[in-house]
Amino acid sequence: MKKGKVYLTGAGPGDEKLITVRGLETIIQADVLVYDRLAGEGLLRHASKDCELIYVGKVSRNHTKTQDEINQMICEKACQGKIVTRLKGGDPYVFGRGGEEGEYLADRGIEFEVVPGITSAIGGLAYGGIPITHRDHASSFHVITGHLKDEEEELDWDVLSRLKGTLVFLMGMGQLEQIALKLIEKGMDKKTPVAIVNWASTPMQKSVRGELDNIYFKAKEKNIGSPGIIVVGDVVKLKDKLNFFESKPLFGKRILVTRAREQSSLLSQKIKSLGGQSLEFPVIKIRETKAIAELKDRIPNIEDYGWLVFTSQNGVKIFFKYLFEAGYDSRKLGGVKVAVIGKATGQELEKYNIKPDLIPESFVAESLAHALYERVRPEEKILIARAENARDFLAKELSKLCTVEDLRIYEAVKEETNDKREDIIKKLAANEIDYVTFTSSSTVKNLIEILGDEKYLLEKTKLVSIGPITSRTIAENGLAVWREAKTFDTDGVIEAIAATQGGNR
Ligand code: SAH
Repeated sequence: MKKGKVYLTGAGPGDEKLITVRGLETIIQADVLVYDRLAGEGLLRHASKDCELIYVGKVSRNHTKTQDEINQMICEKACQGKIVTRLKGGDPYVFGRGGEEGEYLADRGIEFEVVPGITSAIGGLAYGGIPITHRDHASSFHVITGHLKDEEEELDWDVLSRLKGTLVFLMGMGQLEQIALKLIEKGMDKKTPVAIVNWASTPMQKSVRGELDNIYFKAKEKNIGSPGIIVVGDVVKLKDKLNFFESKPLFGKRILVTRAREQSSLLSQKIKSLGGQSLEFPVIKIRETKAIAELKDRIPNIEDYGWLVFTSQNGVKIFFKYLFEAGYDSRKLGGVKVAVIGKATGQELEKYNIKPDLIPESFVAESLAHALYERVRPEEKILIARAENARDFLAKELSKLCTVEDLRIYEAVKEETNDKREDIIKKLAANEIDYVTFTSSSTVKNLIEILGDEKYLLEKTKLVSIGPITSRTIAENGLAVWREAKTFDTDGVIEAIAATQGGNR
């Protein structure tokens, strides 16, 4: 039988991208993945399809599984010959009982390997703008449990309060007031700078800065709770200057993404990389239409066309799917010129190693028609592969020039599986969604349909539109467009949001 093995893997401080390369490998290889609350859920999607996912999260002291049960389970799975990856937030050996799990395995002769991670005590602080050491401020640091109840005996407050280095308390939010009081009581200056970083390096990050004698009240005021890193010392003075994360343009902004599932991840990635929080709620899905039969029919003679026109990534994807299915590759388009609307459509085309011959400056049909006027010869034929509900304008205009075939090869239909509906309604009602993005008219219509009687909640948030057509649909539904993108693509949508000053909380 295959020998089992256990990886004790550190997931990093919060942002799933802060895991190590080795850590990610151990997720990909796992037969069983045992994870808890602080081990970025986004990482789970890297697990294989058959991987068994086991949540052993602990919400405060209310453990869903006892440590013994976790240890036993890991051993059992490994003894069945499985690769078990035990994913822990931060570094597996910084609190979180990784050492105990290691001992338990060693005692039973089970092979294990530790994959260190970036601890929140260091990496989380960095995301709050605080370097754990600095030549001018601290030449040592101390990471301390704030879980005073269990370990009060072990902490020597006389010593702690005299240390010159940076003090970092983990698991201390429930005892914040006592920690501050104890340090003051034992002689630390009550004006010593303190900061808290909550949900560090995630889109939910919040932080607050104060002094020992007021940090508790400041944290309360800002509603900052667990999980939080408490940091005491002069390095906190650098917080505002080095706060690269909280000064990102979308930091603190919660943005609803309504486009189809296959397309939303790119927009979400961009939102996240700018520090925003993306909530994916696909309200449409892309479905191929009957016109696919005609497309299949035209593909073998595609070289008869002078121009191919794509107005979206979907059109490009579907076209190439059928081109390849028919046994051809991109060379088949050797003599055909290709025009596209939108940068993203152009980028999609380049994935198939075709450079667009024409991208009009403005991403609307009018611009494309205008640009093509000058380039198309009357004897050429044009094939347009686009969406069912697209306007007639483009085909009509171009057919004044030459023969045009307008194939409506896909349509956006309502996404029926809306398991997140209640959650989204709750968030809208609680003002927990700052922006709703609409990347087509069909996203507007379908979101409204899905919300039903709760449609009025959209008045509480800011509606961002990708362009004039979408804006019109929003207005026709009795809602106000907060802002329209200047360039009619997803980058334009993001820029519209980023252009506002400051966070929302
Ligand atoms: N092994 C982890 C620590 C586990 S103890 C590590 O190396 O980071 C759990 C404590 O870590 C929490 O109570 C909190 O104090 C801190 N913590 C972990 N991730 C955090 C995050 N993203 N934001 C704030 N605190 C975090």
